[in-house]
Formats: sequence, structure tokens, C-alpha cells
Amino acid sequence: MSDVMKKSGFPYAFNPSACETCEGRCCTGESGYIYVNKQEIKNISTLLKMEEKEFVAKYLFKKMYKYSLKERKVLKEGTSIDSYECIFYDAASNGCTIYEVRPLQCRTFPFWDYYKTRVEELKLECPGITDE
Ligand code: SF4
Ligand code: SF4
Repeated sequence: MSDVMKKSGFPYAFNPSACETCEGRCCTGESGYIYVNKQEIKNISTLLKMEEKEFVAKYLFKKMYKYSLKERKVLKEGTSIDSYECIFYDAASNGCTIYEVRPLQCRTFPFWDYYKTRVEELKLECPGITDE
């Protein structure tokens, strides 16, 4: 049975088995924002057994009126080009260290409204994207 995912209104499908070999492209690469809301801040702090204030200071930064997870600057393998990865991405295990409480933005990727009309751009980012 295929585990390819589809979502109504989106002109593409997603095969999650691609994540096994992709090396977390959606958690790494160009710098971006990974927004977290109040409830997510609470959930992640709880998972990490941290006070919310301490968690905010250590792992978040403010972008306008929202909070985003911080990133780490890393060198793209074999190059001198800067790349970025989410502070909670673990390259050794190719996974998210807060997976069970990861933000909605991460849970809903690659089915973001932004990509409805930008499928070719999404295909370059995510190898799990296939035509419907
Ligand atoms: S970019 Fe796509 S294939 Fe790669 S980890 Fe993210 S969702 Fe999975
Ligand atoms: S929180 Fe987890 S899933 Fe979201 S970008 Fe960071 S490492 Fe990736």
C-alpha cells in the first residue's frame, strides 16, 4: 500500500519515505523563520523541562510580533558556503529533537498555501514531492 499523502486543494502529492534519505532539507538550508505560538512555546518548554522564560531566551528570537526558533550557522559540506539549520535539527540522527511537539509550521509542511502555486520551487526543496 502506498503511503503517499495528498491534501484537497493542493496540486501535488508527498511521499514521506523520501525523508529517510533527504538529510532534513526542510530543517536546513537557507535562513528562514520557524514560528512558534504561545501553546507551542509551552509544549516545547515542558518537553525540555525548562522554564518558559529560559526557553524563550535560549532558543527563540523575535520577528516583529512573533517568535521564531533560532538557527545554527553551519558550512555546507565540502564547501565554504554558509548554510543554516534549525537549532533542534540533529544531523547525526537526521531528525528533529522536539519531534512530538514540533511547531504547526513543521507539521504542515509541505502542504503550505504558499506552495499551491509554486510546485516547481517546492520540488527543488523537497524530494518527496510528486505529481498528483
Ligand atoms: S524536505 Fe521533504 S523529504 Fe526532506 S525531510 Fe523535509 S519533508 Fe522530508
Ligand atoms: S522544529 Fe524540528 S521539524 Fe521544525 S524545523 Fe526544527 S528540526 Fe525541523
